Amino acid sequence: MNTKLLNGNQLAIEIRKEISKEIEKNILNKKKRVPHLGIILTGNNRSSMTYVNSKIKECQNIGIKSSLIHLPVGCIEKKLLEEINKMNQNPLIDGFIVQLPLEKHINQDKIILSIDPNKDVDGFHPENFGKMALNIKSFFPATALGILTLLERNQIKIPGKHTVVIGRSRIVGRPISILMSRRSNSGNSTVTLTHSHTPNIEDYTKQADIIIVAVGIPKFLKGRMIKKGSIVIDVGINSAKNEKKILGDVDFYSVYGKASYLTPVPGGVGPMTRVMLLKNTLIAALNRKDEKN
Ligand code: NAD
Repeated sequence: MNTKLLNGNQLAIEIRKEISKEIEKNILNKKKRVPHLGIILTGNNRSSMTYVNSKIKECQNIGIKSSLIHLPVGCIEKKLLEEINKMNQNPLIDGFIVQLPLEKHINQDKIILSIDPNKDVDGFHPENFGKMALNIKSFFPATALGILTLLERNQIKIPGKHTVVIGRSRIVGRPISILMSRRSNSGNSTVTLTHSHTPNIEDYTKQADIIIVAVGIPKFLKGRMIKKGSIVIDVGINSAKNEKKILGDVDFYSVYGKASYLTPVPGGVGPMTRVMLLKNTLIAALNRKDEKN
């Protein structure tokens, strides 16, 4: 079978152009402040620092202002809550994120709950999560929104399909399973959410029209586990042992040729996730109540 690769890099470029145009038309031309993203980073996790640097760079390239607060390793929860409160109160910050994961001594739930839902451009606050589940307008988590957009813009019809999601994390598996099943033209699929306690995962994946894999295990989904013609979305970003390269959660070479569509790693879901944070920041800026049209 001829497998089409879903090019997230290319689509992210297009969406960045759309965001730039929107900033010019509805913000700069109306003499409003440029959108402003706050980022709070804690500790010295190397992947987190790399992600944050690339978020800052992406903001710069597109005309979004960013401000970074970097708290040192071992920083106490109270200090982090203070910085979150400052971002919540600062009228010049449209939206902000607290880069995850946090150090073990910090209560992640407490931190997420303390973010103003109107500024929660990661879409992790329970208020936004609940609204998403109820199909009420809110910020959607970037990776899930990126996957939906990748499917939509490639004219892949979701309604009526059977989607199997592997992984139930708050940042990927759970939100994408909600979005794929909601009543919407970009949802309306029948979703099976599988995870580490699901026996014989291939019994489900073999029946799936769409498979979204977010487990964090390199090459987890093999070609023998899917049916011919299925659409496979690989969310995984895993560093290969003794190699510089990044591996997905899909065994690319056994799935390629059997799936109808497949996202490459890198260059599939990753760039879509990054651009969706910019999009959510733009939405937060357009939602501002302190500036008149
Ligand atoms: P996580 O560790 O929070 O969750 C992993 C999930 O996989 C869990 O729900 C667990 O139940 C499930 N799981 C683990 N072992 C399993 C097994 N043997 N069978 C079935 N399910 C199993 O991970 P996460 O944050 O969701 O990230 C998953 C992967 O996606 C990682 O590689 C991460 O780096 C990557 N990621 C990529 C992006 C992106 O933009 N491309 C964004 C976020 C995460």
